Amino acid sequence: MDPVIVSALTILALSQPTTVAYINDHHVAIVQKAVPNGAWGLYDPRARMISLSPVTNDPAVLATILAHEGQHAVDIGTTLTTNRAGCEATENRAYASALQTWQAIEAGPDAPALDTPKDREFAWYIDATALLAPYMAHAECAPFPV
Ligand SMILES: [Zn+2]
Repeated sequence: MDPVIVSALTILALSQPTTVAYINDHHVAIVQKAVPNGAWGLYDPRARMISLSPVTNDPAVLATILAHEGQHAVDIGTTLTTNRAGCEATENRAYASALQTWQAIEAGPDAPALDTPKDREFAWYIDATALLAPYMAHAECAPFPV
């Protein structure tokens, strides 16, 4: 596994140990590769693979994206998410996990410098998710049957 992904998992384990345990126990693959539609990450349940956008190599930012996508892996692996309500539930949990992870990182002694514009854009985005998550979940889940 790429060393930056190992670092991200180590950071994630501090705030989301059950997500990291699920990723390890269920052999969820993690790769850095381009993700469609400008997204930061993607979970593909069929491939059981999390893709992290290569726009950043900051392990703290990657840990926060992993919190979101890892929550999807847990939810899709353990509950039914094939309808609108299930999709919105996992999106809301994923945004909450990412926010919780980011807040733990920001409060810790090793808070990242966030010195690239992309890192700063991410920090803004994740801080805004408490307000935006329900709207984003609704929009992202529009294709799912009610
Ligand atoms: Zn999501």
